[in-house]
Amino acid sequence: MKPLIGITGNIRQDKETNHNISWRYSYSLHDFSQLVYQAGGIPVTLPLLDDGIAGEMIEKLDGLILSGGEDIHPLLYQQEPQTKLGPLNLRRDQFELSLLKQALEQDKAILGICRGIQLINVYFGGSLYQDLQSLEPSYLQHRQQSDLSQAHHHVQIQKDSYLAQLLPDIIKVNSYHHQAIHHLAKSLTATAYSPDGLVEAVEYLDKDHSLLAVQWHPEIQAQGDPEQFKLFTDLVERSKK
Ligand code: MN
Repeated sequence: MKPLIGITGNIRQDKETNHNISWRYSYSLHDFSQLVYQAGGIPVTLPLLDDGIAGEMIEKLDGLILSGGEDIHPLLYQQEPQTKLGPLNLRRDQFELSLLKQALEQDKAILGICRGIQLINVYFGGSLYQDLQSLEPSYLQHRQQSDLSQAHHHVQIQKDSYLAQLLPDIIKVNSYHHQAIHHLAKSLTATAYSPDGLVEAVEYLDKDHSLLAVQWHPEIQAQGDPEQFKLFTDLVERSKK
């Protein structure tokens, strides 16, 4: 049977031109739905509701994609907001932390993307750099200004990792983040690094956990890159277990 994969959604408010009406839409990136479908799963967007429904939502699903988006509220990792912090969405943070908790408790397959890897690290007690450009100038440019279908920097994948079974040792990835993992949570294993030493992938895979997360955006690269597409076929396979 095809596994059902939930994609965390967000809310967008659009004002109708010439009318004083605004509409609120639930949405997720279409690329995720397209790739889950191509990989043999059934995609579904999870509307941003409240914590009370997270457990029942996850019960219906086989897998979960934690998608990209706003910065995570620094109070969730015991820091005060610094000046270069981006837009926040505390309601989304709380809902996604509940979804993640439920997905872990119910042994569902998880794939975190960009904000997703950061949320996972915060959930397990790690912290984030609030703004990479405020750090030493030796850091690479991690928020590229070119098309995200083009790779931007290298990452080196750790040889003994699960990720290394899917991807070659060194790959080129796109990069569209201004935050990153600072202190890595103890439960997680870092499995890929950029040349400036930032964590670009983590995993937590044992008999009770099936979690993989990356800092780049494979959903944009995967359309033209069979290697990146493997992250989605892998999620679908893990969701069947
Ligand atoms: Mn990067």
